[in-house]
Amino acid sequence: DPVLRLSAIEKSYNAGKPNEVRVLSGVDVALNAGEIVALVAPSGAGKSTLLHIAGLLDTADSGTVEIEGEDMTARSDRKRTAMRREAVGFVYQFHHLLPEFTALENITLPQLANGTPRSEAELRAYDLMTRVGVEGRADHRPSAMSGGEQQRVAFCRALANAPKLLLADEPTGNLDPATSDQVFGTLLDLVRGTGMSALIATHNLELAAKMDRVLRLEGGRLVPV
Ligand code: ADP
Ligand code: ADP
Repeated sequence: DPVLRLSAIEKSYNAGKPNEVRVLSGVDVALNAGEIVALVAPSGAGKSTLLHIAGLLDTADSGTVEIEGEDMTARSDRKRTAMRREAVGFVYQFHHLLPEFTALENITLPQLANGTPRSEAELRAYDLMTRVGVEGRADHRPSAMSGGEQQRVAFCRALANAPKLLLADEPTGNLDPATSDQVFGTLLDLVRGTGMSALIATHNLELAAKMDRVLRLEGGRLVPV
């Protein structure tokens, strides 16, 4: 089974009202294990909506969302949340790290919430931090780190529970171009190293070209580039 399969996804906001916005009108995509796919779209095309539906944070009006072969479309909120926590990691343009906690704590918290013992959670956090080169920042709070370091820690947090699927929305979009290229490369290495699948939205076509496949969101559908 693909790690993620979206079939005939449709989504409108304010359906039936004068201000209705039809965002997705027949999105189909399947991500195989280990596949890293770029999602390119002009601003407002619906990529955040698509990523939120794929990650079970939002529901489509019609169509199906399958994660690891399991149809999650009509599952209860509790089951969708459980699947999201177990199988999906998110990264955004802004790191969304908790400001009062250190890098290490930010990466261990989602694991503790999932029932991982602290010692095991900390070992995994150090392993992830070492892979992206921020192990020296373990005891720093986000405000004491550079933008690139903050994003690297956010990647570690997203991967803390070893998800099968990473969903990223402009993961280096708030960094200067040189840092962005470097940090993006780190993210791709990290994802490739774990064998997970990823759907990564970016405006940057050079970065998109480093992925296995590029899809453009256009007129509410995904088309190969
Ligand atoms: P992108 O991430 O590609 O910029 P979004 O998925 O955020 O696009 O939004 C796609 C379209 O849907 C935009 O026109 C946006 O204004 C609209 N939209 C997004 N969220 C809502 C909402 N909650 N209510 C109404 N319209 C929305
Ligand atoms: P942005 O400025 O990028 O829209 P926000 O601060 O508004 O960021 O929110 C961050 C993102 O986190 C939003 O896109 C929101 O939909 C998303 N989000 C909401 N709940 C969760 C969750 N449980 N897990 C991961 N992401 C979430």
